[in-house]
Amino acid sequence: MTDGPWQPCADKLSFDTEREAKSAATAVAWQRGATLAPYHCKSCGLWHLTTRHKED
Ligand SMILES: [Zn+2]
Repeated sequence: MTDGPWQPCADKLSFDTEREAKSAATAVAWQRGATLAPYHCKSCGLWHLTTRHKED
C-alpha cells in the first residue's frame, strides 16, 4: 500500500500539527527539564521533537 522510503523516524513520536508537537515539548520539558524543539519532518511530513535545533 505504502510505497514511501524507509523512515528513520518511525520510532519517534509524531504529531500532526506543530501545535501538538509544541504542547508535547512543553510537557516533556517540564518532566525532564530538557529543552525540546518541534521540527517538521521531511521524511514523513509529520512533526517530531528534537533536542537539537539543527536538522540532520
Ligand atoms: Zn518523520
